[in-house]
Amino acid sequence: MIEGSCHCGAVRIQIPRAPNEVKECNCSICRRTGGLLAYFSPEDVRVIPASGATDVYMWGDREIEFHRCKICGNFTHWAPTDKNMDRMGVNARLFPPELLTEIRILKFDGANTWTVTGERRWL
Ligand SMILES: [Zn+2]
Repeated sequence: MIEGSCHCGAVRIQIPRAPNEVKECNCSICRRTGGLLAYFSPEDVRVIPASGATDVYMWGDREIEFHRCKICGNFTHWAPTDKNMDRMGVNARLFPPELLTEIRILKFDGANTWTVTGERRWL
């Protein structure tokens, strides 16, 4: 189990294992939040506390909740509004930086083609 947190520590996130890769996406929200997204089944992710510590942003078809810490404002994760959807995104930047040095950062063109266009390393 690996635990990360927002800057102030009010929101903690536990994931079962380090992801093999994360996505750096250029879609309209990711290019602004700057998150590095790791994807998991919601069953495998524990957000502590489970509710109340984040504010939620939604737009458009309102299928995805973007959560940010109410205190420090860090983008922590996104979750589907349809609770039957088996996928959520966790901001890997919340986790210890040593984690990021080991994994592939895929450049994802979420703005246009929805394809991976390259990859880089953290450092
Ligand atoms: Zn915080």
